[in-house]
Amino acid sequence: MEQTVVVNRKGAERWRRGHPWIYRSDVASGAAEAGVVRVEDGRGAPLGMAFYSPPSLISVRMLTGDVRPIDLDFWRERLGAALAYRRTLAPDANAYRLVHGEADGIPSLIVDRYGDQLSVQLLSAGLETCRDEVVRVLVELLEPRGILARNDVAVRRYERLPQDVEVLHGEVPDRLEVREGRVRYLVDLAEGQKTGAFLDQRENRMLAARLSRGRALDCFAYHGSFALHLALGADEVIAVDSSAPALERARANAEMNGYAHVRTREANAFDFLRAAEAAGDLYDLVVVDPPAFAKDKRSVDAALRGYKELNLRAMRILAPGGHLLTFSCSHHVSEERFDAMLRDAAADAGRPLRRLGVLQQAPDHPILMQVPETLYLKGALIQAP
Ligand code: SAH
Repeated sequence: MEQTVVVNRKGAERWRRGHPWIYRSDVASGAAEAGVVRVEDGRGAPLGMAFYSPPSLISVRMLTGDVRPIDLDFWRERLGAALAYRRTLAPDANAYRLVHGEADGIPSLIVDRYGDQLSVQLLSAGLETCRDEVVRVLVELLEPRGILARNDVAVRRYERLPQDVEVLHGEVPDRLEVREGRVRYLVDLAEGQKTGAFLDQRENRMLAARLSRGRALDCFAYHGSFALHLALGADEVIAVDSSAPALERARANAEMNGYAHVRTREANAFDFLRAAEAAGDLYDLVVVDPPAFAKDKRSVDAALRGYKELNLRAMRILAPGGHLLTFSCSHHVSEERFDAMLRDAAADAGRPLRRLGVLQQAPDHPILMQVPETLYLKGALIQAP
């Protein structure tokens, strides 16, 4: 018999409205240990089953609206549904997200597929107690050659979990090749950013490939995943990043694809854009995909000033007809504030600019409307007439 956790009216109401997180302050009485628990409201009415993390600010993560065992059948059902959704998407790539936490009804679990490998993150103490079942069902459903846990993530601290990288199943190679549309790039599962690469930008990279021509600029290029797509249509691509090892891999990736017209520049993107503007350089396509500048709520204003400066300069160096694809992956920057920042930059840019589209994370990273936190990658497609 599992433990029971009682939540107050506010906590219960949140779940009734479809949000699975119940904060520690809304837990009336809790169990002592992390695990799977039964959740009740103050009158003893059952609310469902949940992951429970006593030390975490998000103590309860609801899994179901009914009381049922969280057993292998549960995992087969939930993981099976997540996989069935990805089959309907049929991404034109061999790397994509299979499970996006809350948005797939499995709070705190991330599963990314890289060919015949899986890279996973277990981000709560409650989920951690189900690790064996999750691995077993993933193996059953997908038969991967290897499963790597990229649990070297800061949020695990709030769950009092160790931050480490661990092979959970089979064999995991040092490097593997990802195919994405018409390009290929190498990913280091154990060392690469996130679970190995930025899969959330896949559809935006394919859009960039369709738009690219003439001179193209990829700011914050990392291992060149945008730059490679830009190379499909452009005569010349410049990939800017402040990390020498990232650019080394970008060059190796360009070579692997046979693209001699991708050049790398090790520079601070702020400086690069300032210099480009001062020199009067123009580009037919610019990508601005910075790291998350806002690490917490307090740094949002400073982050927005940074985003504005980048976007203002990028808007000014667009050739006539040129496109800008610009992004923010900061969880703490809302769609509204991102939008306001872009309008502010446009107002200062001194030229008309058209907004052609709203961009967001690829649909294999679904956004659950009841859980605003599942939307984190915001973007826009802008054109200079
Ligand atoms: N566009 C990439 C992901 C970018 S990740 C993709 O789709 O795969 C962010 C990158 O920004 C990292 O490679 C990091 O090295 C780089 N970076 C961080 N600060 C920077 C700065 N001030 N100037 C240039 N690059 C920076």
